[in-house]
Amino acid sequence: MNYKIAVLAGDGIGPEVMDEAIKVLKTLESKSDISFSFEEGLVGGSAWQVTKSHLPKETIKICENSQAILFGSVGGPIEEADHPKWSGCEINSILALRKHFNFFINIRPLKLFKSLNDHCILKESLIRKGFDILCLRELSEGIYFGKKETKEIDGQRVAFDQMFYTEGTIEKIAHRAFEIARTRKKKVTSVDKANVLECGKLWREVVTRVSKEYPECTLEHLLVDNASMQLILRPSEFDVLLCPNMFGDILSDEVSVFTGSLGMLASASINKEGFGLYEPPGGSAYDLAGLNVANPIGQILSAALMLKISFGLDKEHDRIVNAVEEVLSIQYRTGDIYTSTSSCKEVSTEEMGDAICKLLK
Ligand code: NAD
Repeated sequence: MNYKIAVLAGDGIGPEVMDEAIKVLKTLESKSDISFSFEEGLVGGSAWQVTKSHLPKETIKICENSQAILFGSVGGPIEEADHPKWSGCEINSILALRKHFNFFINIRPLKLFKSLNDHCILKESLIRKGFDILCLRELSEGIYFGKKETKEIDGQRVAFDQMFYTEGTIEKIAHRAFEIARTRKKKVTSVDKANVLECGKLWREVVTRVSKEYPECTLEHLLVDNASMQLILRPSEFDVLLCPNMFGDILSDEVSVFTGSLGMLASASINKEGFGLYEPPGGSAYDLAGLNVANPIGQILSAALMLKISFGLDKEHDRIVNAVEEVLSIQYRTGDIYTSTSSCKEVSTEEMGDAICKLLK
């Protein structure tokens, strides 16, 4: 079976970490009967350099003709933010892609690899059992997409951001959460603010109704303020974390910090037809670009996530995750997860990619 992938490496460390993810996919290809065809597209500042557009039409076409998008990162150095090459780069490229393909769910696995326990900022007693949380964030509604207005009332400016949620949207993401949960630890924690917000009441009501169709799963409701505390106090008790847009934005970043490094993370954005874009949630990290020191694991895990979600290749996903687990257990470390006090071996971006390929069973 052949799978067609649009590869948009982008800027900064994007191309370096993308090379390693492609290397891993090609190694997997050589060790199985699956094949991939990769078509590269320009995006971000590197696209602007050639076409004066951050998202050329040609790139959109490549994405439309593929079964999934593997995305690196876009954006320039902060001090050059006003240069036309970088100005509006993220909005014009990644946000435009999200809009074009109507991505409505963001999925972020938040797993603490056992060998990285000493990089977790939480106390040892809180992470003894580890954690493996899958955060599902609704992406298309909520306060970010409601009507916005700033107007003068009684001599001072008042700002309004309307929050809205549609029953059908909640229903769709809730089904997705339970479908995923039943392949994992069968637990969904739904986050809302049902005590004060109408959106929260509807969210809770719809999620509860959908849960009845999945009797093998348990459902827990948490108010968002309590959820932010419980994630710190008992991270190992969470499985699928189902969040409206803004709460997911905040909570997924909170838990990201516990995993050790931004360079370890993967994410997926999915539309209602199941088409997805896979990317590490970090940026183009210009402090590391060109030095062969960035951590490629987030990009490699994003490729693994693509195999699982877009192509249904669960075993191949697990093979990559196991190889990552193993490379960490033999103490291979890029700079962001290196500790000089332990028996760590500091490796380059390329060496990390090579080691993961070697360990791929
Ligand atoms: P950043 O995520 O690029 O970097 C933040 C910190 O995390 C830096 O210290 C960086 O070295 C580290 N880091 C990130 N990825 C890493 C990796 N793979 N390995 C090791 N360390 C890693 O955030 P920033 O510096 O605020 O932004 C840089 C540029 O990226 C900006 O132009 C910003 O707009 C853009 N950005 C793009 C995306 C995206 O493409 N989706 C997301 C966030 C930021």
